[in-house]
Amino acid sequence: MNKINLKRLSYKELSDFVAQMDGRPYRAKQMAAWIFLRGVCQFGQMTDIPLQFREKLDTMAYIGCVSEKSRQVSTDGTVKFLFALQDGLTVESVLISEGARRTLCVSTQVGCKLACAFCLTGASGFTRDLDAAEIVDQVIRARELSDEKKITNLVLMGMGEPLDNFDKVIHALKLVTDPEYQLVGVRKITVSTVGLAPGIERLGRELPKVKLAVSLNAGDDATRERIMPITKKYPMDALAKALAVYPLPQGRRITLEYVLLKGVNDEKKDAEGLSRFAKKFPSKINLIPFNQTAGIPFARPDIEDVRRFKGWLVEKNHTVMIRDSKGADILAACGQLAGDKWSGGKT
Ligand code: SF4
Repeated sequence: MNKINLKRLSYKELSDFVAQMDGRPYRAKQMAAWIFLRGVCQFGQMTDIPLQFREKLDTMAYIGCVSEKSRQVSTDGTVKFLFALQDGLTVESVLISEGARRTLCVSTQVGCKLACAFCLTGASGFTRDLDAAEIVDQVIRARELSDEKKITNLVLMGMGEPLDNFDKVIHALKLVTDPEYQLVGVRKITVSTVGLAPGIERLGRELPKVKLAVSLNAGDDATRERIMPITKKYPMDALAKALAVYPLPQGRRITLEYVLLKGVNDEKKDAEGLSRFAKKFPSKINLIPFNQTAGIPFARPDIEDVRRFKGWLVEKNHTVMIRDSKGADILAACGQLAGDKWSGGKT
């Protein structure tokens, strides 16, 4: 008999499972607290549950957990965890502290198929999708391993393209926001995509309350296709159409992420193209100067060029922030995650 991974179950499903096993109704609450709040991985650790019931659980179910393989701490306090999955593959999660905010960036795939030219994950190729429990457990594990034992915000911006693993990602987000588990509030979650238009439409239908960020990085299709091959399949027009009908809650805007690459996408014509795109729906723009990474053939623009680029956008009345990624010294910044494939020489 195949055992059930209890970390894939919503609270309702967990309650039904416990009821089928003749457990008392309050057992589901106890078990949810052990699995999702205290993060235990063995039934033996559930000390307020009778031994006989724990033994019965062991024959029918298990608790899927990722385990910490290593950890690096940046000079700015950012923590990068390397988590081992049960089949031995690894993914990275990054915990960023800013004021009272503790933001966890999680991975959704081992590697990535989309091969963006500025991204170390893309350069490492694709191995497999993560399942919902593996995504959720990055949150539980990072919280348990962190000093303050809290995660206030969640971003799906680590290894992989979330909308390329749509069903598992939605399942994971429903678990993370299950009112009985209360891992992270739905309005504190950001899904970041390179722009898979059909996935954006589905996300709007299924979880419109999460925030949406789009990694754009160019002002025209030719430049974008050069650094993001997905543009061939979903040109900027198709992407803008999907974003223009995205059911944004009142007052919410879509974030456009723009990694500035010296001499590639940092000219005035690029800012003008970005501005035209950004005016098609409520938006704000984050400019991210590229993090110099060995093996990736791009350079970081000078700060004057970054400010000049920002100025062109501000002139067109856009809300623009310059965001310097956290954790660049430990390869924890945007586009620098690659599991343990690259860690030997890079960290
Ligand atoms: S930027 Fe995102 S979508 Fe592009 S290769 Fe990297 S992980 Fe994949």
